[in-house]
Amino acid sequence: MGEKGSQAAGDRRRDSSSAAVGFVVLYALIIMLPLIVSALTVERIADSFIKELSLSFALVGFAILAMQPVMAARLKAITHHYGFDMVMRFHKAMAVVAVMLVVAHPILLAIDAGSPRLLISLEVSGIVWFGRIGLLLLLIMGVMGIWQRRLIDFQRWRLGHNSAPIILVLVFVHSWILGYYVQDTPMQTLWVVLLGAAVVAYVMHKVVWPLRRKANLWNVRSVKQETHNAWTLEIEPPEGTEPLEYEPGQFQFLTLYRGDDRYDGEEHHFTISSSPTSGPTHTSTIKVAGDFTSTIGETKDGDKAMVQAPFGRFSYTLNEPGDRFLMIAGGIGITPLMSNLRHMRDVGLDVDVTLLYANDTEADIVFREELDEIAAGEKPRFRVVHVLSEEDWDGRTGRVDRDLIADAVGDDLSRHMVYLCGPEDMMNELMPVLEDMGVTPDRLYNERFWL
Ligand SMILES: Cc1cc2nc3c(=O)[nH]c(=O)nc-3n(C[C@H](O)[C@H](O)[C@H](O)COP(=O)(O)OP(=O)(O)OC[C@H]3O[C@@H](n4cnc5c(N)ncnc54)[C@H](O)[C@@H]3O)c2cc1C
Repeated sequence: MGEKGSQAAGDRRRDSSSAAVGFVVLYALIIMLPLIVSALTVERIADSFIKELSLSFALVGFAILAMQPVMAARLKAITHHYGFDMVMRFHKAMAVVAVMLVVAHPILLAIDAGSPRLLISLEVSGIVWFGRIGLLLLLIMGVMGIWQRRLIDFQRWRLGHNSAPIILVLVFVHSWILGYYVQDTPMQTLWVVLLGAAVVAYVMHKVVWPLRRKANLWNVRSVKQETHNAWTLEIEPPEGTEPLEYEPGQFQFLTLYRGDDRYDGEEHHFTISSSPTSGPTHTSTIKVAGDFTSTIGETKDGDKAMVQAPFGRFSYTLNEPGDRFLMIAGGIGITPLMSNLRHMRDVGLDVDVTLLYANDTEADIVFREELDEIAAGEKPRFRVVHVLSEEDWDGRTGRVDRDLIADAVGDDLSRHMVYLCGPEDMMNELMPVLEDMGVTPDRLYNERFWL
């Protein structure tokens, strides 16, 4: 990368980390606003500490719930600084916090009253039922969210999750009518603003922006079979639309419209496997993993695609700079690393890169020829070590482990920037190994292909 390029990348990194801190402070302030506004504007206080605690939990719980659609709306202003997966993990973690606060609210009230009536009696007012039903739905959604992968197929979970705003409305009505601190104008104004922010974020994310994207579908320009179970789709913008602007290693939400009813409109994450240097089209390389991806080879030139991108920060241009890279890929986890490598090659980056690339069999290796071509080039100084599970192979076999990494690049990784993308087990196994070999968290980047 030239001097200007690396300075621009450095500026991007600095801007991003200060904005990231700013967002955390802003978020903390927003969820604490109900406590601040009620402390400043409401003169009465609850008649016991337990009741006060219960009401405070409910106020903060509502503010967190109202922020959930905003966090989930894929706002570039937020995802750009943290990475999409981090924002989603935060969204999940805050859902758990909200569940705990909202569950604690009636329990503390019952303790304060010295009777379980509020929790178990059927003879309570309709508006208490609003709160109860909201709480029950929240609990169901929380459990499904935490154990989604064990309990329910991802696309069904996503559909069910679309009903989350009902919870917010129930909790809003409950607190508007019963809320001890929500009876005066400043707090009521805050309540309407919080609900309004949630509704706007939800409607934009789920209705307005998708409709806009649907009115401007991209074209599948070519489909190339890479291996027995992986295909590369090349996608071009519709006439009059600028090519996608992205950094290497980022991903897109892709929805194909191929004229079959079953998967039309089903949105999936896929890494952009091309490099931003490659021209007006971009590609994703997709391996069969389940229902939808098993039909990917049926995609035809001229099919339509809805594209929402770019997301993610698994990009050497967005992260700390370095001159030695260790990349570790498992299976289709090669795609974001390939995008980074292609970019490094196209800009002639003067760095050393070693790729450890694990697959089950030789037939599973995607991009094999192109990797060899990059290795034959001058910059980056690049080497690929293929590792296969099958025994019948001249090269390395078995798993990527500490010995293999040490053989490839040495036992001390304290100067390497490490990029890791592969199956969940492999990543869970390797993260502590890499840390043990001297890779500090600011030099260890991973991309997860599951949510
Ligand atoms: C950031 C990111 C980048 C990705 N990049 C690529 C890529 O470049 N190439 C590639 O082949 N695959 C990639 N994936 C994985 C890809 O999204 C899933 O394999 C695909 O969505 C599975 O859909 P399916 O209907 O065929 O499988 P399903 O039958 O639905 O499920 C198969 C497996 O994939 C998981 N899954 C299903 N839908 C999703 C989803 N939308 N997001 C995450 N996991 C899901 C399921 O939990 C299950 O473990 C990426 C995933 C993420 C999160």
